[in-house]
Amino acid sequence: MTRAIKQFTINTKGFTDIIDITANINSIILSSGVSEGLATIYAAGSTVSISSIEYEPGLMEDLPELMNKLIPHDVDYKHNQKWHDGNGYAHLRSSLIGNSYTVPIINRHLELGTWQQVILIDFDNKPRKRKVTVVIV
Ligand code: ZN
Repeated sequence: MTRAIKQFTINTKGFTDIIDITANINSIILSSGVSEGLATIYAAGSTVSISSIEYEPGLMEDLPELMNKLIPHDVDYKHNQKWHDGNGYAHLRSSLIGNSYTVPIINRHLELGTWQQVILIDFDNKPRKRKVTVVIV
């Protein structure tokens, strides 16, 4: 049974823009009144992902570099040949990491590690406005 569902929007710069959304989610949990449960954080779109990381400057460079090694942006993907939008890499990165992330709620907070934050990663090749949905059960 869903106990709360809330949405918010985030403006991104695209190009593997990594945004810490932990505070947004914790405030939604607090206002929901739910003290124990699960929060699923979901971003709609085929060029965006939700995950977690230690949100610090080194990893903000390391994660984009890893993505560039695994799924380079300048490959002539078949998606680009068909649609000419140049963001084949962004679709593939989004599929690899995924669009949702589920975290237990304990004592009205996300049960995250001390240095762990929930992030939205926008891989698209232009600025975007992203809608994030938080479902609390
Ligand atoms: Zn595309």
